[in-house]
Amino acid sequence: MISLDTVLHGLTTVLPHVLMLEGGRYVVTAGLVSLATWIFWRSWFRARKIQSRSATASDYRREVLASARTVLIFTLTGFSMYLAVRSGWLRVYKDFSVQGPVYFAVTLALMIAAHDAYFYWTHRAMHHPRLFRAFHWTHHKSRTPTPWTAYAFDAPEAIVMVAFVPIWAAIVPMHDTALYIFMTWQIARNVIGHAGVEFSPVSGRRSRLWGWLNTTTHHDLHHQSGRTNYGLYFSWWDRWMATEHPDYQARVAEVAERSRAARKPGTPFSPMRPAGES
Ligand SMILES: [Zn+2]
Ligand SMILES: [Zn+2]
Repeated sequence: MISLDTVLHGLTTVLPHVLMLEGGRYVVTAGLVSLATWIFWRSWFRARKIQSRSATASDYRREVLASARTVLIFTLTGFSMYLAVRSGWLRVYKDFSVQGPVYFAVTLALMIAAHDAYFYWTHRAMHHPRLFRAFHWTHHKSRTPTPWTAYAFDAPEAIVMVAFVPIWAAIVPMHDTALYIFMTWQIARNVIGHAGVEFSPVSGRRSRLWGWLNTTTHHDLHHQSGRTNYGLYFSWWDRWMATEHPDYQARVAEVAERSRAARKPGTPFSPMRPAGES
């Protein structure tokens, strides 16, 4: 059993640290992707813009405010996990003498694969007409995603999203660094998926080596149409369940072609297709 002293001490020492970590993770990643897009706009990203529409100032405001609420929910969950570890309900180890590097790598890879499946199915469920308004409406107010859309969730959606971490950790004992890497991976992929410009080195042909990784165009099409492309990291579930956008490959090829054309000296910049066109 955990003592009241431990909880009170944690509230003043651990909670602010978790808040900095959760907020910092969102702000730094979305900030870095925004900065990279701005610095390399003319030389690289202008030709890789996915929609002709641009997000408005009120889109950014709404996304940052909703994401701040998500950060608070993630912080409370992180703090609850800390208390659960302290009281012995949850096993998160810090020492490689407990489990070696192979266990570390395998459990991290399994956690990412399991999260991909969890995301696909919870996301699809949240698109059910009975759940959509309460769970997923705020996220889809962003028709033209920006890096700041990453955590723009309704409170119930934020709870569903973060619940995966304690559920997984209750089943599989994890190294604390593996959890840290997982959280960094999920925010990086999440922010890149909402970047509004294609980040992946797409060639226009589905690569055997990289075709199983979702591109930014993949999730952008989900925000445009809402009925396809539910997956997060990998393309497996959308292909297995036949929910991949029918024009997905054509859209990726189009971005790749524009990007190639823009790099050829003397080639005029070719305009993109209008947003929302399916
Ligand atoms: Zn999204
Ligand atoms: Zn959705």
